[in-house]
Amino acid sequence: MQATPIAFRPQTTPHPESASWSVDEIETLLGLPFMELVFRAAEIHRQFFDPCKVQLSTLISIKTGGCSEDCGYCPQSAHHDTPVPNQPMLTVDEVVAAARVAKANGAGRFCMGAAWRGPKDADLQQTLRMVSEVKALGLETCATFGMLRDGQAEQLKGAGLDYYNHNLDTAPDKYADIVQTRDYEDRLDTLGKVRAAGLSVCCGGIVGMNETRRDRAGLIAQLANLDPQPESVPINQLVKVVGTPLADAGVMDWTEFVRTIAVARIAMPRSYVRLSAGRREMDEATQALCFLAGANSIFYGDKLLTTGNPDVVADQALLQKLDLSAL
Ligand code: SF4
Repeated sequence: MQATPIAFRPQTTPHPESASWSVDEIETLLGLPFMELVFRAAEIHRQFFDPCKVQLSTLISIKTGGCSEDCGYCPQSAHHDTPVPNQPMLTVDEVVAAARVAKANGAGRFCMGAAWRGPKDADLQQTLRMVSEVKALGLETCATFGMLRDGQAEQLKGAGLDYYNHNLDTAPDKYADIVQTRDYEDRLDTLGKVRAAGLSVCCGGIVGMNETRRDRAGLIAQLANLDPQPESVPINQLVKVVGTPLADAGVMDWTEFVRTIAVARIAMPRSYVRLSAGRREMDEATQALCFLAGANSIFYGDKLLTTGNPDVVADQALLQKLDLSAL
């Protein structure tokens, strides 16, 4: 059957600050013939980045489990009965020691995550010391502490934080199926506070949560229409954990994941698109296709908050095989 010609974005890549993407446009991109889509994404990748460089971020959980939120994918929610044990906040020394190891292994950014709805002021004070001491090691710093109240983003910025992670998770229309304890506006409100404080934004989502392709388009459109676009865009593939509501989510074909990466690259040409959770479940060839389709960042380290990640040695071997080097 003859493929129908598809109206596509102009040859000139839209400038990220002025880009405006409809869900229909993104859905059309997701439905391009696979090889065409990957090729176009690879072309755009080369316009904005060295395709042989990958940014390496290491993520550590500084406080695990017992979270009051009910995110359907998360084993750290107190609403779900999962095998993940609670762990109180790490000490500053423990976090700094982990950051030294990450740096020695080649990571350029160190991300600290805490299972909170949002940080209490006393907890925030302790994280400020973590941020400033990690920053002093010469690493970029990132934090993901949940929703921020007025003034908290400024305190983090003052301590030396570079990035704040706050994911939109999924499309606005799908959000209530995944999380009931907060709404999409809450996410956007924190992202606004992060931007107003002068922090860079790390914001992405999760695929493989029984969403449709249109839902994935809705997520990417929402991310791409943030103004300015996020500097980092982690794309996670659901890791199904026993005891979570999404433990039995259907299987999403690997090509859909690659398509999502490719479209994120096209719609957000200046952003670092990160392969995040779920990479351990991907074979090397799929990861290589993701790099070809524009992914240029990975989480790097043995553990990703509470779920597994390919170990450092395996990642170094993969990067070497693909002639990719760390930024
Ligand atoms: S994803 Fe974050 S906010 Fe949601 S339950 Fe897990 S730790 Fe809490």
